Amino acid sequence: MNGGEPDGDPPQGSEESENARRLLLIGPPGSGKGTVGQRLAEQYGVEHIAAGDLLRHQVETKSDIGRRAAESMQRGELVSDSLVYELVLPRILVAGKTNGYVLDGFPRTLVQAEVGRAITDSNDVAVTLAILLDAEPDVLIPRLLDRARNEDRIDDTPEVIRARLDVFNEEVEPLLDFYRELGLLVTVDASGSPEEVWVELRAILDSR
Ligand code: AMP
Repeated sequence: MNGGEPDGDPPQGSEESENARRLLLIGPPGSGKGTVGQRLAEQYGVEHIAAGDLLRHQVETKSDIGRRAAESMQRGELVSDSLVYELVLPRILVAGKTNGYVLDGFPRTLVQAEVGRAITDSNDVAVTLAILLDAEPDVLIPRLLDRARNEDRIDDTPEVIRARLDVFNEEVEPLLDFYRELGLLVTVDASGSPEEVWVELRAILDSR
């Protein structure tokens, strides 16, 4: 499927490997996807596309998408695929054609991965590396409760945190299999400090 043909024009002003340019972060709530995503964006000059942040912004600004997403988000459930596609896919296509992207929170299900892959592949902007940020609930729950105290997030109450972790665990295995079969999956231990996670991730990216 990937063939051996050379890619199109390299990203502007860069000699980094292609692998560093179109990244996907997969991780449970509290695994540090947001922090890592921002750092990768700064490091590699790619766009950080965070589905949850985009959705929360829509809810806060009471847009049509926000109104349709709010109820599911408040319960810690996934919003409908069509809403996420509407919000995220155009950004992926644009960023993929320029300096690249780091996706955070999309795709989250096998269906989203398949649909996303078909559309991005046909535009030559598909993910080149999927990074699992791996951590156990006993590390994640205290982090999330701490964040709930410090940030005013509609989806960080204890009940909703549990629901979000359950949803993640239900959806993640097929998603991981999908990227594993494409030979694109790497795993990073996300239970350490942000600095430790960053060092491990940089080592992986720099070795590819
Ligand atoms: P996050 O900040 O990534 O944990 O996402 C917060 C919430 O946004 C999730 O609990 C879902 O309700 C919704 N959400 C984020 N990404 C997606 C997605 N790819 N598909 C469906 N719902 C999503």
